[in-house]
Amino acid sequence: MSGWRYSRAMSLTTTTTTATTADQVTTLDAEDERWMRHALRLAAAAAVAGEVPVGAVLVRDGKLLGEGANAPISRADPTAHAEVQALRAAAAAESNYRLPGTTLYVTLEPCAMCAGAIMHARVGRVVFGTRDPKTGTAGSVIDLFAEARLNHHTTVEGGVLQAECAAQISGFFAARRGLA
Ligand SMILES: [Zn+2]
Repeated sequence: MSGWRYSRAMSLTTTTTTATTADQVTTLDAEDERWMRHALRLAAAAAVAGEVPVGAVLVRDGKLLGEGANAPISRADPTAHAEVQALRAAAAAESNYRLPGTTLYVTLEPCAMCAGAIMHARVGRVVFGTRDPKTGTAGSVIDLFAEARLNHHTTVEGGVLQAECAAQISGFFAARRGLA
């Protein structure tokens, strides 16, 4: 579980809290929470379109460079994950295939494809919401970001708004099974 942290350095200026158990984040960095909420809104829109709800935003110095929502079904594109969509939008906006100094916020732990794209883009930091035990490659199935032979640029943190991100995914699948 190297690289996984439930909470970042505590910010005393942050007053918001979503903690319900001792296991969860008790205090959140306000900037991280703000951008993760943006990603959650993108994910919610994906769910309305019948896509598995995952949202991502790419930010540099407090400025939004690109955003994306999971859309492989509607786009008939297996690579149309939220992270790739956000990277494409940001790279187009920057006219640069490398995006150093950026933070990618994503509601779900990245898969192998997205981890590769994130590393190729030289994203500086990835912040994800909740783990994906089936395809997550930031420590769940494998930890590609911890592989020094592959990654020299990207640090990873998880667990920002974990409860909300997990509830969004589980709620989507429960509804699809007719349980909600
Ligand atoms: Zn992916």
